[in-house]
Amino acid sequence: MWKCSVCGYIHSGAEAPEKCPKCGATADKFVKLTEEQEALITKSIRTNDLHMELCQLMESVVMIAEEGIEINLDPGCIVTFKKALQEAEIIKNIAKAEMATHVAKGKW
Ligand SMILES: [Zn+2]
Repeated sequence: MWKCSVCGYIHSGAEAPEKCPKCGATADKFVKLTEEQEALITKSIRTNDLHMELCQLMESVVMIAEEGIEINLDPGCIVTFKKALQEAEIIKNIAKAEMATHVAKGKW
């Protein structure tokens, strides 16, 4: 893996790219990552993907809960769906905040 020293773009491959796809910097601006850095980035990619999956799942929970609230069958249903809606928003926002801390620490 190679990292663009100008913009932080990560390139996977044996050689640095001729040009950075993000900022256009030339190959000499790319720095080869150590095995340790590569392992950290690989773990980060998977973990961030899981956080994104979690966010998508919570979006589904929000839609389910909104429909349940709209149908309004019984007071117990409303309590359940409102709780689900609230918790899904919280989990989604926690996952987003966690991803933001990863990016700030170079784990993206
Ligand atoms: Zn770049």
